[in-house]
Amino acid sequence: MRYIQGFGEFDNLASHTAAYGKACIVIDGFLFDALNARLHAIYESAGKDFLAASFKGECCDGEIARISGIAGKNGVSVIVGIGGGKTLDTAKLCADVLGLPVIIVPSSASNDAPVSEIAVVYTESGEYIGSKKMKRNAELVLVDSEIIAKSPRRLFVAGMGDALATWFEAKANEASDSPNYVGRGYRRCKAGMAIAESCHKTLFADGKKALMALERGVVTEAVENVIEANILMSGLGFQNTGLSTAHGIHSGLTAVSSTHAFLHGEKVAFGIVCQMILENACDEEIDEVMTFMVDIGLPVTLKQLGVEADRENVLAIAAKTVRNPLVHHEPFKITEELVFGAILAADRLGQSYLENS
Ligand SMILES: [Zn+2]
Repeated sequence: MRYIQGFGEFDNLASHTAAYGKACIVIDGFLFDALNARLHAIYESAGKDFLAASFKGECCDGEIARISGIAGKNGVSVIVGIGGGKTLDTAKLCADVLGLPVIIVPSSASNDAPVSEIAVVYTESGEYIGSKKMKRNAELVLVDSEIIAKSPRRLFVAGMGDALATWFEAKANEASDSPNYVGRGYRRCKAGMAIAESCHKTLFADGKKALMALERGVVTEAVENVIEANILMSGLGFQNTGLSTAHGIHSGLTAVSSTHAFLHGEKVAFGIVCQMILENACDEEIDEVMTFMVDIGLPVTLKQLGVEADRENVLAIAAKTVRNPLVHHEPFKITEELVFGAILAADRLGQSYLENS
């Protein structure tokens, strides 16, 4: 419903939750000690009270029941999630169960999930079960750029990979006239396309400058812009225009278990290379995108994702990719053979850029 981003915005959380009443704040276990203390100071000076819950690490039915149980017993009026993807998804799911509004506070800009209405559920042991659509979007996504700037560089770069896919996938969906992800799926609006394009331009204009600033742990205009591209523009872009091959390859890559150790945006990055090959993008565009991805450290080969480029692996990835609907949002007929070839050619292309970097 609302998106707020800025330096030190975390300190205004109490004033945002006050509009609803008492908040149950679900905090990433890794960040609990540091942030719980900071929250106590913030809420104390605002003369307000809150309930803290430490997230135990898995977004599963047991954890959702545990936290919504605590929140339900204590009569809270709003759920806040602070942390990484699984913490935020657990907060979304608890709010959905309880029929309460949710406020999302990401601790990194590693993907565009904070603004999406989708949460991914796992088993207690971390196996993927499926994704669930929330009844309503978050009331507020609050992004403190100071916190994001201090998060690990790898997370920020992975977020750039996820964001970089947005414009390529939007164009594929436009060409095939596929429905978007709003509600049951509708025709994409021009505003969605404009946001997706702006996401792309922002990454190229400010991506490298932003990474240099992050190496010093500081927030600059370029850092602010790329955070917005990674979270807001990428999120609004994909929901309003749709996903295609880059994310389709991402899902295909999970057929090989060694890719599980890699981040969402890292797998999507290799998916972009595959999409450019599949669409036979022009040399100029390929050169611009490949050079950028190698420069910022996104993976462009299978080996960089821990995958041996042998026939068995590539067949498994291609088979899983074509079983998923995303790759079929391209404006031409997709077969397993086409995807198989695109993956191997993409891997070779990535290799040549790595060798020359
Ligand atoms: Zn994504």
